[in-house]
Amino acid sequence: MTAGHPLRTPSELVDAQLARHDRLAALKEVAARYAVGITPAIANLIDASDPHDPIARQFVPDLRELDSGPEESGDPIGDEAHSPVEGIVHRYPDRVLLKLVNACAVYCRFCFRREMVGPGRGGLSRAGLAAALDYIRSTPQIWEVILTGGDPLMLSPRRLKEVTTELAAIDHLKVIRVHTRLPVAAPEQISTSLVRALRGSKATFVVLHVNHSRELSEGARTAVARFVDAGIPVLSQSVLLRGVNDDVETLGALMRALVECRVKPYYLHHADLAPGTAHLRTSIADGQRLLRGLHGRYSGLCQPAYVLDIPGGYGKSPIGPNYLSADRTIVEDFKGRRHAYPPSRPAD
Ligand SMILES: *Cc1c(COP(=O)(O)O)cnc(C)c1O
Ligand code: SF4
Repeated sequence: MTAGHPLRTPSELVDAQLARHDRLAALKEVAARYAVGITPAIANLIDASDPHDPIARQFVPDLRELDSGPEESGDPIGDEAHSPVEGIVHRYPDRVLLKLVNACAVYCRFCFRREMVGPGRGGLSRAGLAAALDYIRSTPQIWEVILTGGDPLMLSPRRLKEVTTELAAIDHLKVIRVHTRLPVAAPEQISTSLVRALRGSKATFVVLHVNHSRELSEGARTAVARFVDAGIPVLSQSVLLRGVNDDVETLGALMRALVECRVKPYYLHHADLAPGTAHLRTSIADGQRLLRGLHGRYSGLCQPAYVLDIPGGYGKSPIGPNYLSADRTIVEDFKGRRHAYPPSRPAD
């Protein structure tokens, strides 16, 4: 259990020695635009003496967030165009996002929903939730519901149970997926009653957002184990971030730590064009080089799919390195050697 309260203002960050006093005025300007939140569990992971600390970089606001480029957008992946009712994003035929709350335990500086999330943003009202559930009920092609937000696990176990009970009664719906950062941000909140609220008649998966192996503290590992032991498989999604995890060793250590926790790495997201996040983004070419580095050096269990959410609402596409040559069917192996497929026939 980590004692203390979350840090929510630049002054609190300065007092906790996570930000410099001479930056206070500028950081207040950042905080007026984008929510700030650092839980005790996350504050404990930060090495304040390291100006390049990969945990601080994800959560401590930065003056560069005030600079927004023309290619950036408050709705970088085009969710709004695919929202038939409040709280639902229906982009792919067989699955929808159900956005229950707009609050999170921590506020990531690179968040693609940074203009929508925050502690004062509320969430779906009771009437809104009823309408969203009606939409799912009346749309038979919906096979999977993805609970997201904000962080859906910010809801009380009792409210979560109400939602999963409603979903359990929908015949055509077979799978519930929960996207969360809470096991890392506030592991003590992954209680027995919370896990029980997710266990139900539908196949349920948790997808954990984690970007650096140090986020998998003892507490986070215990929280993850609670899900897995309860029969809820856990997958991960990470964001490729400059100065946080953009080298092969750091990425490989993260993927190994996840697999050691029985978590299957699922996605490595190319960072979205969220406003004020240019200093945290890499190029796609860098990402592909990193993925090539992972492949062959680390177990197949440690390989996430590198994906880009195409701006404008076109969905996600895998953008990993291509091992096929375009002209003929030549496959490149992980050492860069080329092989014809099918192999040239031996002389008979
Ligand atoms: C990312 C996303 C999903 C889930 O996509 P998967 O590839 O199934 O993980 C579903 N709907 C929307 C709108 C999304 O952005
Ligand atoms: S936890 Fe997720 S939704 Fe919340 S700020 Fe971080 S990236 Fe955004």
